[in-house]
Amino acid sequence: MKVPLLDLKRQYREIEREVMEAAQDVFRTQMFILGPRVSEFEALVAQYCGTGYAVGVSSGTDALLISLMAAGVGHNDLVVTTPYTFFATGGAIARLGARPVFVDIDPDTYNMDARLFAETVGALDDDQRSRLKAVIPVHLYGQCAHMAPILETARTHGLAVIEDAAQAIGSEYAFADGNVKRAGAMGDYGCFSFFPSKNLGAFGDAGMVTTGNKAIFEHLKVLRVHGAEPKYYHDLIGGNFRLDALQAAILSVKIPLLDAWSERRQANAALYRSLFQDKGPASISLPEEREHRHIYNQFVIRVAQERDDLKAYLGRKGIGCEIYYPVPLHMQACFKYLGYEAEDFPVSMEAAEKTLALPIFPELTTEEIVYVVDIISEYFKSK
Ligand SMILES: *Cc1c(COP(=O)(O)O)cnc(C)c1O
Repeated sequence: MKVPLLDLKRQYREIEREVMEAAQDVFRTQMFILGPRVSEFEALVAQYCGTGYAVGVSSGTDALLISLMAAGVGHNDLVVTTPYTFFATGGAIARLGARPVFVDIDPDTYNMDARLFAETVGALDDDQRSRLKAVIPVHLYGQCAHMAPILETARTHGLAVIEDAAQAIGSEYAFADGNVKRAGAMGDYGCFSFFPSKNLGAFGDAGMVTTGNKAIFEHLKVLRVHGAEPKYYHDLIGGNFRLDALQAAILSVKIPLLDAWSERRQANAALYRSLFQDKGPASISLPEEREHRHIYNQFVIRVAQERDDLKAYLGRKGIGCEIYYPVPLHMQACFKYLGYEAEDFPVSMEAAEKTLALPIFPELTTEEIVYVVDIISEYFKSK
């Protein structure tokens, strides 16, 4: 049996007619740039995430970049994030001439360790603290970071909070008072990606920034069109960060189905759990569900030893799996100038060495999940 890590064709078969109609509608109107399809989709995302506003942008990467620009981050500024994330989180900071300040992750959730964040900010000198502008907590794999203490530290130091919610649309966080919020609705900016492999995937690149602040919303809309307001008059230097109308039209067809898809991912995760409980090898551990609603963009196990050997074995048995991410950002060649050492972030280093993402997409069958667990058990028995 072959089990792909992700098979987008299965989902497309279910929605082909509606998607074709939406695309055809855009083709007939020939309105490709912004316009009603983009506004409609922005309203749907703002409603879904529980934020007042949303601005469609060209990608998740550009969502981060435009948010940092709107927050006034520039040359020599400092921005805190974790080294255990997709490259774009750190890349967006560095592209503005600012410096990423890394904080290690919690070993159970792979998200920013809130206590270390407070400690790191506390250890900065006065000059550094005056240059510190923002923090980017990443909601990795579909689970929210522990936001309450992160927001508190950010508030104390006057930092903009930019959530990297690229993997976490619809995931939820419960505050101590019982208040539940969705990813993207807790900070000043929520950054989303509709890269095809995310829970809500476009037919190409697309992204969104959510915010509850009207002034930020207006600022983002101007930055999205080269800083022009009105057209051809530039008080600001922005960029071309527009979301395509075609992508917006297709995503508007898909977003009503998102909850059902995320629930199927959760059901797949539950099935993995019960199967691994029955015959699971001791050398692997399963993802921890700490926060309110995990949407399982990825189902990531931790392999105590020889993870790469298991990965190769699964590959030979036709099972797709992947390492997210093999090299933490502080060890990337392009970030050598930051001067970090491997041992500065031991939890991230260990995660990079031991994690393995298994297939979790909504259309996965029970037989396929059983096969994956059987092959992993077989591998450990042969050891
Ligand atoms: C996917 C992703 C991004 C970038 O999104 P693109 O749409 O691919 O530009 C940023 N951060 C994280 C954590 C991601 O997973």
